[in-house]
Amino acid sequence: MQLDPGTRTAHRTCPLCEAGCGLELSIKDEKVVRIRGDKDDVFSRGFVCPKGTTLGHLHDDPDWLRQPHVKRDGTFVPVDWDEAFAVIEAGLMPVLEEHGRDAAAIYLGNPGAHSIAPMIYNRGLIKALGTRNRFSASTVDQRPKEISSALMFGSVTVPVPDLDRTDHLLMLGANPYASNGSLCTAPDFPGRLEAIQARGGKVVCVDPRVSETAAKADQHVAIRPGTDAHLLAAIAHVLLEEGLADPSNVAEHCAGLDDLPETFASYSPDAVAPICGIPADDIRELARELAAAPTAAVYGRIGTCTQEFGTLASWLVDIVNLLSGNLDRIGGAMFAKGATGQPSTKGTPGSGRGFAMGRAVSRVSGSPESLGEFSVSVMAEEMETTGEGQVRALVTVAGNPVSSTPNSARLDAAIADLEFVVCIDPYINETTRHADVILPPPTPLQKSHYDLALLNFAVRNVANYSEPVFPLDEGQLSEGEIMLRLTALLSGESFDHVDTAALDELGTHAMLASAAKDPNSNVAGRDIDELTAQMSDHEGPDRLLDVMLRTGPYGDGFGANPDGLTLDKLIANPHGIDLGALEEGRVPANLRTPSGKIEVLPDPIRADLPRLAASLERAWDDDFVLVGRRHVRSNNSWMHNIRVLTKGRNRCTLQIHPDDAKRIGLVEGGAAEVTSRVGTVRVDAEITDGIRPGVVSIPHGFGQDMPGVQLSVATAYKGVNTNVLTDETFVDALSGNIALNGVPVSVTPAPSEVAV
Ligand code: SF4
Repeated sequence: MQLDPGTRTAHRTCPLCEAGCGLELSIKDEKVVRIRGDKDDVFSRGFVCPKGTTLGHLHDDPDWLRQPHVKRDGTFVPVDWDEAFAVIEAGLMPVLEEHGRDAAAIYLGNPGAHSIAPMIYNRGLIKALGTRNRFSASTVDQRPKEISSALMFGSVTVPVPDLDRTDHLLMLGANPYASNGSLCTAPDFPGRLEAIQARGGKVVCVDPRVSETAAKADQHVAIRPGTDAHLLAAIAHVLLEEGLADPSNVAEHCAGLDDLPETFASYSPDAVAPICGIPADDIRELARELAAAPTAAVYGRIGTCTQEFGTLASWLVDIVNLLSGNLDRIGGAMFAKGATGQPSTKGTPGSGRGFAMGRAVSRVSGSPESLGEFSVSVMAEEMETTGEGQVRALVTVAGNPVSSTPNSARLDAAIADLEFVVCIDPYINETTRHADVILPPPTPLQKSHYDLALLNFAVRNVANYSEPVFPLDEGQLSEGEIMLRLTALLSGESFDHVDTAALDELGTHAMLASAAKDPNSNVAGRDIDELTAQMSDHEGPDRLLDVMLRTGPYGDGFGANPDGLTLDKLIANPHGIDLGALEEGRVPANLRTPSGKIEVLPDPIRADLPRLAASLERAWDDDFVLVGRRHVRSNNSWMHNIRVLTKGRNRCTLQIHPDDAKRIGLVEGGAAEVTSRVGTVRVDAEITDGIRPGVVSIPHGFGQDMPGVQLSVATAYKGVNTNVLTDETFVDALSGNIALNGVPVSVTPAPSEVAV
C-alpha cells in the first residue's frame, strides 16, 4: 500500500493483550490510515494480530465517551469535569460519611493492567477510598497462579516457559493461537511454538477442546475439565516412582522436597485415568517424555486457574517443572527480570518476608483475602446483605464486572440497587449503565505506554516505551489526572484545586526515598535532593516510571551506571531495547521466602491437598460441563464494539459433540437451552467433534445487549453472556478464584426446536 505524502509514522506497543506487540502506525491528517507490525521491534519482529490493527478504529469509536457523563432522571448527559467531580462529591461522600469507608467497594478491571496510570495510581486511589472491599478481575483469572508462586518463591514471580529454547512444551488450559499467551509475554506465541516444532521439539496441548492451539500441536490430550491437578499429580507420581525425577539443579535451595513421594503416592496413572478421561499409559508417556527431553517446560494458563482445584493445578505446574529438572534452567521454566523492578529483585537477595493470605475475611461468608482483595465471588452478597459494613457504593476502574464475573444477573441487580456508582471507563456498558458518573479516559493512542506488569512475565528481557500518538483534546483530562483528582476528592481535598504535578512530585520523592533506603538498591544511601535534581522533566505517571527504570535492575542508578536504562533512553529507542535472554540460576537470589528456600510444599497447599484426594472418590458423572473459549478477534468484553473484528459468522455458539447432540436431539444451528444452578441462556448449537463428549463450550464476553448499554456494534452482535451460567459459589476453595471451567449444566433443544 502506497502512502500519501504528508503521512507520518509512529511506533507504539499494542496495549490490548499481554503479548505487547510493537506496531507501526501511519497517520495522515491526524487519522490512522494503516497499522502493521513493527518489523524492527526488538521483541515482536513485525508480528501483529487482527486486534492490533484496529487501534485506529478504537480511537475513532463514536461510542467512546469524550467527556464525563452524569445520570439525570435515568439518562446520561455530558458535563464538564468540574461538574462531574462535584456530582461525585455530593453523591458519594455523604454515603461514606454516614456509613463509613467500607460502605464503598472498588473493582479494578483487566485493561488497567495494560495502562501506566492505573498501574501507578490505583494504589493511591484504593488508599484514599479506605475500604476493605477491594475486588478485581484477578479472581476471575490468574489469582491461583499468583498465590502458588508467591507461596513457593516468596513473591508473585511466575516462572515462564523458555519458549525460544525449549525442546518440549506441555501446555494445559492455554490457547495462545487465540489469546497470544498470558502470564507469559511472548509476541507471536504461535510462531514460537512452530519454531519448537521446526527445531525437532514437541508441543503437547492438554485441553477438552481441539482448540486452535491443539489443532497445531504435535499431540492433543482431551482432558475432562477441572482435572488438570489430577493429571499433573499423576505425572509427578510417575516421575518419582520411576526414578525419573531429577531436581538436582535447585535441590539445595528447596524445603520440603522429601515430602513429595508421599504426597503423590495415591495419584497413580491408573487412579486418575478415569477422572481425567486419559488412558493411564498416555499419562505415563507424558511423564516419560518430559523427563527424556533435553529440556522441557510445563505451561499452565487460564484453564488451569479457573477451575475447582486452580491453586493446586498452578502449584503442580511448577512442581512438575522442578521434578523434571527444568525449573530455573535454560529451555525450562525460567524467571524474567523486568526493567522496572519487581519484588524478586528488590530488597535482600535470597530471602524476604514471604507471602501471607487470609489476613482478613469477607464480612458475609468469610471468604479469605489474598493480595489485598476479596474474591469477586462475594461482591454481590456484600452489596445485598444488610448490616454494618454493607456495600452501598461502587468505584470501578476499567472494569465491567456485570459482564465478566459469575452469576451476572445477581451482580447486575445488586449494583442497580447501590446508592452511588462512579466508573472510570470509556463506555456505557453492562456495568457503567448503572453509574451515576462516568469519567472517560483518553483512548490508548492518546496515552504513553509501558507494560509495567507484563514485562515481568516475558520470555525475553526487554523494555519498550511508547509516547502518545495523538495529543489530548481540548479540555480532556489524562487518565492520571482523572485518577489523581478522584483520589484527592476521596481524601477530603477539594477536587477543583488539585495540583496533580505536586502529587506526582510527592510520589517521586517517596519512590526515591524508598530506593535510597534499600541497601541493595543502585541508589542506596544517596541524597533525595541530589537524585531529584537529576530527573528529566517527564510528567504524570511517566515521571514515576522513569524512577522505576533508573532504580531497576538495568537502571542508570542516577549516574552510578551511566550506560543503564532511563526513560529518555527508551524514548530514543522506539523499537524497544533488548536486555537479553532469560538467565538460568536466578534461584536462590530471586527468592523472598523467610527460609530463603523454594517452599516446595507450603502450608496452605498442604492443607488443600486433602480436598484433591477426596475428589479421587467422586463419581465425576455430570451430564454436561461447561467450558469457555476465546477467538483471536475477541478480547474479553472490550473489543466487541469494533465492527471489523465482529465480521463473519456468529462466533458465540454452543460447541457440542455430535454424539451428545444426537442423544439430546439438537441439530446444527438449532437453538439450545443451557441451564446451570444460576441461570439459563439460549444459544445456537455448533456441532463439532473437536470437543470432548460431555463438554460444551460458550465463549465469554458476549451478550452485550442489556437495556441501556450504548455499544452500537456489540449490542447488535448475536451472542449470550456465559456468566449468566457461571456460578459464584463454584470456586477454587484455596484462592477464592471462580471456577469458570467444569460448570455443571444441562443442555436441551430450546422448546420451539424439539423435533417431532
Ligand atoms: S497479539 Fe495482543 S499485543 Fe499483539 S497485536 Fe494482537 S492484541 Fe495486540
